[in-house]
Amino acid sequence: MTYGITVNGLGHAFLREFGCPCNRCTLKEHAANTSVSIFRRDNDGAGIEWHALIDAGLGVVTSLCNYFRPEDARLDWLLFTHWHPDHSLELNRLCETTRRSARYRSEPYVRIPTWCREGTSQWLKKTYSYEWHRCLDPRIFHETAPPGTILESVPLDLPDMTVTPVSVSHYSADIDPVTFKDTLYSSASFVVETDRKKAVLLWDIDNHNEWIVSPETDEQNRAVSFLSNADYLFIDCFTWAVEEVRGYNTGHISFSTVQRYAKALSPRETMLMHISGHEEGEGNDGWGWSDEQWEREAQNIWKSKSLPGTVRVPSIGETLQL
Ligand SMILES: [Zn+2]
Ligand SMILES: [Zn+2]
Ligand SMILES: [Zn+2]
Repeated sequence: MTYGITVNGLGHAFLREFGCPCNRCTLKEHAANTSVSIFRRDNDGAGIEWHALIDAGLGVVTSLCNYFRPEDARLDWLLFTHWHPDHSLELNRLCETTRRSARYRSEPYVRIPTWCREGTSQWLKKTYSYEWHRCLDPRIFHETAPPGTILESVPLDLPDMTVTPVSVSHYSADIDPVTFKDTLYSSASFVVETDRKKAVLLWDIDNHNEWIVSPETDEQNRAVSFLSNADYLFIDCFTWAVEEVRGYNTGHISFSTVQRYAKALSPRETMLMHISGHEEGEGNDGWGWSDEQWEREAQNIWKSKSLPGTVRVPSIGETLQL
């Protein structure tokens, strides 16, 4: 039995901006919002017998078609880091294609078991009421824990893999969908563990997660240990240096904060996700950089500062063993 993780997308919210002349926006290649698949195979070369998708933004279904074989088409769980459109916009397409893939396998369609946080469930219920009620089978714990709390593991019911959410701050998503202003924690990172490997999925986080660097409570200390020493740390790297634009927080961390969080968490391999660079402004470091340039610049800093493990930008479609 083997487990793997495939990168379905690592794009930021808008993927490509119409009218932007930068190197990223003029690249005519498949792009998809940040998302990964976790899957289990019976043995090497055999078909996939279990598959969970984490986040369902734009381009994700095309990625599934590109990077998995038709006979591997199945979806056993859907997990959301949070409700933002770049993590949920392709929900309708995903639900409908999953309905059809059950038919191709001559199996009855069952609603997709879905995990997200309470705040995200309220947003999704409101925005995607058809999909929520007809296509998904929500497994929600009614918790509202603050950032830095280990939540109950997702009830996947697998003998040799666990996925455990940890609450994180992503303030532009941590909003009550009724009042549009009260704080309602909606965002999670995930720790994926098998007997062999640990992967941490830490994207769409802002710079109010200082508990990662200086935990204060017992719970925060537990959360930091739990996120530490991963084989793979997939982390938000929205910008190179800027975290505020015209006085507004971007809601994401820059590479400067990535370095501090990686130093605190000591992963073996750091993978930069959700890259934009637009917010730096034209002509500044990060603006228009290709993934290759992001990787090169990040590796130079990693080396000069002796940061833990290695750093790189994964490729879309890449699969890692878990
Ligand atoms: Zn996002
Ligand atoms: Zn651009
Ligand atoms: Zn977001």
